[in-house]
Amino acid sequence: MSKHYDMFVIGGGSGGVAHGRRAAEYGAKVAVAEYGALGGTCVNVGCVPKKIMWHAADHAHHFEHAADYGFDVEVKGHDWAGLKTRRDAYVKRLNGIYEDLLDKSNVDYISGHARFIDAHTVAIGDTEYTADRFAIATGGRPSVPQIPGAELGITSDDFFELESRPQRVLVAGSGYISVELTGVFNGLGSDVGLLLRKDSVVRSFDAMLGAELMTAMRKDGVRITTRVIPESLEKTDDGLVLRAVDGRDFGPVDAVLWAIGRDPNTKGLQLENTGVTTDKWGFIPTDDFQQTNVEHIFALGDVTGRPALTPVAIAAGRRLADRLYGGMEGRHLDYKLIPTVIFSHPPMGTVGMTEDAAREEYGEAVKVYNSGFTSMYYSLGEKKQRSAMKLVTVGEEEKIVGCHVIGDGADEMMQGFAVAIRMGATKSDFDDTVAIHPTSSEELVTMR
Ligand SMILES: Cc1cc2nc3c(=O)[nH]c(=O)nc-3n(C[C@H](O)[C@H](O)[C@H](O)COP(=O)(O)OP(=O)(O)OC[C@H]3O[C@@H](n4cnc5c(N)ncnc54)[C@H](O)[C@@H]3O)c2cc1C
Repeated sequence: MSKHYDMFVIGGGSGGVAHGRRAAEYGAKVAVAEYGALGGTCVNVGCVPKKIMWHAADHAHHFEHAADYGFDVEVKGHDWAGLKTRRDAYVKRLNGIYEDLLDKSNVDYISGHARFIDAHTVAIGDTEYTADRFAIATGGRPSVPQIPGAELGITSDDFFELESRPQRVLVAGSGYISVELTGVFNGLGSDVGLLLRKDSVVRSFDAMLGAELMTAMRKDGVRITTRVIPESLEKTDDGLVLRAVDGRDFGPVDAVLWAIGRDPNTKGLQLENTGVTTDKWGFIPTDDFQQTNVEHIFALGDVTGRPALTPVAIAAGRRLADRLYGGMEGRHLDYKLIPTVIFSHPPMGTVGMTEDAAREEYGEAVKVYNSGFTSMYYSLGEKKQRSAMKLVTVGEEEKIVGCHVIGDGADEMMQGFAVAIRMGATKSDFDDTVAIHPTSSEELVTMR
């Protein structure tokens, strides 16, 4: 006889584990199936190891200014392999913590690939499980272009497997993963070329951020080439050469990193046995309550095509459990005003509408405040890095609908401002808040 659950969660990543634990804490009988390492993308090949690598590259930036502050420091090299060993050990500890958490919450952890047999049954290997409800939280994986030789390149997953740092690197892609990994390679000493399909990086964010970041990256030595559509990747005696459709060649290099987007993990789930529909890219659309087109099957996190961020997957998962098992009718995640940070060098933080989107929606009612400056940190030396900030306001009361920051500290600055903006803060609320001096964030409350 198959084992029966109230809720069967497919995917033991950020969203699946958060949902499963919260549901079980309300008393539901829950299983979480996971075929890879617990913790999913974020813990294993995403946020966590990425942030460790960001810290490493950030150290390299600080060393550049050490002499300005009186230190006599000679950096003799960087032990990438040693860093990887320590990073992997940390990730492994987190995998164990995730397993313990599931155990403590009385969630059954089932290791293996889940596929639907019918709308109430999944199979893992030869074992079948039935459930009243299912939550699909299977996340995504890096896309690879469909061009000859693409397999010679690496993805962000492979980046975390690298035992040594390639010296000559091409990164293809303009999204946040692309600029983050470009910053890591560049900061740690690789010679990096960044190839963009269009004219700017991070095009879904405010245009100011992309423009400022490109200037900063170029100043840091990244060679950015725009309007490159890869046609093929070839191995030559000197290394990999990427050919663009317009005939331009890039390389030879030691590694080509594809950072061109992510595909949802829906293939192999046998969704056709459930009636759950996907969009043309394979993402599973849901309503505001994470419900798919099949009443008892829910989807959350990256697989839904909504903002691909760990806290988004977690929040959606917990709220779904609150509603289904915690008696909180109507509880759901509001996907508006989601703050996010891009761990580029320098980092960027953003919440709310871009200036362009606000102008399109509110026209003349939009007023924008901009600030650009060099923070005090750079005052003693020759090498400077600019910070820039933008507040997008709407209407007579100047309600803040967007806040965009690039510069040191942007990563730690945005969370608090996001709270204020979510509460409906206006420009005068910002102006009435006493500044914290000397900081970069004080610029946000002193803009004129
Ligand atoms: C390089 C990189 C850096 C990132 N940095 C950040 C960051 O700084 N901040 C941030 O908020 N987000 C970041 N993200 C995004 C973040 O990792 C994801 O948004 C988040 O992990 C999504 O959670 P999820 O639960 O939807 O999916 P995942 O965490 O991807 O979990 C899905 C899980 O489902 C499993 N699975 C899939 N199919 C099946 C199946 N059929 N049976 C069993 N198991 C299955 C997979 O193995 C996986 O473990 C980053 C992502 C990448 C790639």
